This record gives sequence, structure tokens and C-alpha cells, in this order.
Amino acid sequence: MRKRSLINLGVILSLILTTAVYSLGQTVQDKYIKITILHTNDTHSRIEPFPMDGSRNQGLGGVAKRAEVIRNIREENEHVLLLDAGDYFQGTPYFNFYSGELEIMLMNELGYEVATIGNHEFDLGLDNLARQLGKAKFQIVNANYGIEDTPLEGILKPYTIIRKGPIRIGVFGLGVEMRGLVPEKFIGNTIYNDPVLAANETAAYLKNEEKCDYVICLSHLGLEYDDATASDLVIAKNSQNIDLVIGGHTHSFLNEPIRVMNAIGKEVLINHAGWGGIILGRIDVFFEPKTLNKWFKSENIKID
Ligand SMILES: [Zn+2]
Repeated sequence: MRKRSLINLGVILSLILTTAVYSLGQTVQDKYIKITILHTNDTHSRIEPFPMDGSRNQGLGGVAKRAEVIRNIREENEHVLLLDAGDYFQGTPYFNFYSGELEIMLMNELGYEVATIGNHEFDLGLDNLARQLGKAKFQIVNANYGIEDTPLEGILKPYTIIRKGPIRIGVFGLGVEMRGLVPEKFIGNTIYNDPVLAANETAAYLKNEEKCDYVICLSHLGLEYDDATASDLVIAKNSQNIDLVIGGHTHSFLNEPIRVMNAIGKEVLINHAGWGGIILGRIDVFFEPKTLNKWFKSENIKID
């Protein structure tokens, strides 16, 4: 008899404890609005994992494995945003055979929502780029290329606004100076404008006029240079309205986002995801519902 009541007490206690832990979890979940930002850059036509040839990257990456990781994250999280910072073209024979169509089709399948363009997107010229981007089900953004009188007119937009639950997210793009990187004939009438000016103008518009709660700069400028060349660090330091820079071009592997103080002393995050689809960048931003004060958690996931 005595033994049984002890068992009962144990059951009741564990029930109380389980309920308490569960409620705590619920409270934390209810308290914040969580946006999960996933991103890649410089995937460079790496449709398959890196070959098993004894090299450092052997067996890593591959669109199928990335798709699985993304699918699992989407199952577990309500508000997921999938972005790419450019240079999905060029690097394997898939690009030479299919001219970029396969890369765009797979990005459609994976459910990318916004991408910018890198210098290698121009590798088969403007007409090909416009033709392939025309098949994209995602938005393609760039705010510092003048594209009037080019085939990209109407396809490339300076920015887009995406709503995730109650949060309005503005995403705009920045591209690198292509002269010296891309043959003249492929650049055509595309004009390179100062990315710092374009960034500040677009971000201010998104925050103040469009009332975005969060502004993301999708950049293909590169992380950092020894000289004054525009880079993600230069953009972040000179900005006032950007919350996060998702970058590419320099194939930088970061363990966690870099934190930079902007022109008015507010923190901006910069994250990169290596190259070749080896890494899927992940940043979870938690918003306090009333004040929209935010904090973040990050994990750059190795696709292996
Ligand atoms: Zn590049």
C-alpha cells in the first residue's frame, strides 16, 4: 500500500514537472515572434556534392541535401525566409550545358524567395541572364545597377517586401563593379552606381516610407577589402537603416555573424555562407511583439 502511494506520488510529481516545463516552453514561444532566415551565396552550379577526390570539400554540399535540411527547418519553424546572395551560375558543366536554367529551376523547387545577382550571372551575357531570370518564381533584387535599356528592365527590382506573420521585411540587393570581372560585351548598358548611396537611400525608404520592421541587404560586394572598395563592412558601417547584410562574392566562411556598429551606433549583422553550397547560413531573429525589440541566434549549417 505504502509502496503504491509512493509510485503515485512519483507519477503526479513528474506530471507536474512536465507541465511546468511545457508551459515555460510555450511562454517563451508565445512571447517572441521568430523569423528564421536561411541563406546561401556563390553556389556556383554545384548541383551535386563535391566529388570524392580526396579534396577538402569532398562529399559536402549538393542541392538534394540542402533541400532536405531546408524542408526539415520549414517543418519545425513557422516563418522561414530563404535568400541567395548571387553567383549561382558558373562552376560546373551543368552551367555550360544548360546556361543557368537548371540552377534557377532548382532554386524554384527549393522555394527561394529573394536573390540578388552576382558577376557570374552575366557570364553568358545579358540576353541569357534575362531569359533565365524570367523563369524564376522568386524575386531578384539589385538597387545599384542602372538597367534601363537592358534586357533586365522589368525583371530586376531594387527591393521587395515580404511579410512573415506580423513582421514586414524589406530586402534589397547590391552588386559588385563588374568592369574588370566581366567582359564589356556582357555588361552592355548596365550602369554601376555607388552601392553606399544606393544602400542608404533604399534602406531609408524601406524603413521610413514602407514601414518595414526589418531591412536586409542582399549583397554581392564581398565581405571586406584592404582598400576603400565598397564591401559589406563599408555598407554596414555607413548605414542607418539596415539590420542585416547577407553577403557573398569573397567565398567567406564565418562561424557566426559579424557585428558592426552603424553610422548612428546601432548594431548591424553581416553573415556569409562560404561557397559551393557547403554551408546553409541560418539566423533566427526573435522580435518582442509590442516593442519589436529583437535578439538573434545563429548557426551556419554544414551540408554534409
Ligand atoms: Zn562573385
